[in-house]
Amino acid sequence: MIPSQQKPNVHLAALPLVDVLSLLGEQGECKYDPDLHTGPDAFEPETLLERQARIDAAKDICDSCPVWAACLEYALRTKQSDGVWAGHTARELAALRMASRSGSLGEAA
Ligand code: SF4
Repeated sequence: MIPSQQKPNVHLAALPLVDVLSLLGEQGECKYDPDLHTGPDAFEPETLLERQARIDAAKDICDSCPVWAACLEYALRTKQSDGVWAGHTARELAALRMASRSGSLGEAA
């Protein structure tokens, strides 16, 4: 779900990716606990229930993030394949990209 006031705008699309990433690192709410959005490393086990609870908590943090739109722009442009970005899992981001390509994203707005 994309809140209408937080849709990516043309200015973000024109920014170099390195600048967008820098903005996320400086102002993103996840900077306080990045593992929440990326998950534990390969040596730390995580059950499916723990994973879902972590993802839900990460999405809640994204909901109030001041750079949400920039994060979504970055995640879509870089085709992130892991983690939670702007409240979306990699699978949800892929679905957004497909919807955007097919034009159905604009119809829902
Ligand atoms: S929207 Fe979420 S993942 Fe993106 S910078 Fe903010 S807290 Fe981090």
